[in-house]
Amino acid sequence: MAGIDITGLSVEYPNGVRAVDGLDLRVTDGELFALLGPSGCGKTTLLRTVAGLEQPAAGAVAIGSRELTGVPPGGRGVAMVFQDYALFPHMTVAENIAYPLRVRRAPQARQREAAERVAAGLSLSELLDRRPGQLSGGQQQRTALARAIAVEADVLLLDEPLSNLDARLRLEARTFLKRLQRELALTTVFVTHDQAEALALADRIAVMEAGRVRQLGTPREVFQRP
Ligand code: ADP
Ligand code: ADP
Repeated sequence: MAGIDITGLSVEYPNGVRAVDGLDLRVTDGELFALLGPSGCGKTTLLRTVAGLEQPAAGAVAIGSRELTGVPPGGRGVAMVFQDYALFPHMTVAENIAYPLRVRRAPQARQREAAERVAAGLSLSELLDRRPGQLSGGQQQRTALARAIAVEADVLLLDEPLSNLDARLRLEARTFLKRLQRELALTTVFVTHDQAEALALADRIAVMEAGRVRQLGTPREVFQRP
């Protein structure tokens, strides 16, 4: 069980901005969940806090039944894909995918095996020896996804996963992401400012405003006019 439980969460930056403000949210195990809202409403900060990259000023995050206060990013069972993918330009696709396993000191053979297995599932097998600069936007996105999946996390966090793709690739990536998430039965939270994207992909949507959840429900519940 790897649902996410967020209770009374507040996150403040050193400049005094309260990016997340007393937020409560429960994401169910295996759910594909969208955080939707305008730029600056706190979506990325919320994701980074679940990943352990920002520290809460108040409140708590739990995954499964495990409370995560003080647990570092690598120990949370969480993998995050950043908006700009954050690939290492001097490493090959295979090295990028295996990087988190290398950090965890997995044996070389296991690193390569994991990279090859995950790459096959993401149509990247032919590209393992290329560097990110030699890839299309869609291929970079899939490499970033592969790196996140290779660590076998319980929870996958995606920051605007499709926003850097052109319209055609975005449609393709939607289908792909949905299939992948179903197959791996991962609890997945993705950030978007695009209503159509949330509608097309998500099981449920939280609409955020000024660091809080303003509306919560299935796409039908959220978008249907009363
Ligand atoms: P969103 O992802 O919805 O665009 P963010 O979480 O990036 O929202 O930002 C929420 C608020 O926190 C905004 O007011 C933003 O300017 C501020 N903020 C984000 N990152 C930082 C930071 N590193 N330092 C200070 N303020 C930040
Ligand atoms: P997003 O909307 O996807 O969060 P932004 O363009 O708001 O992206 O932020 C890009 C980067 O700038 C992030 O790393 C964020 O933490 C940082 N940032 C955003 N707002 C501020 C701010 N007011 N002060 C310092 N850093 C910020």
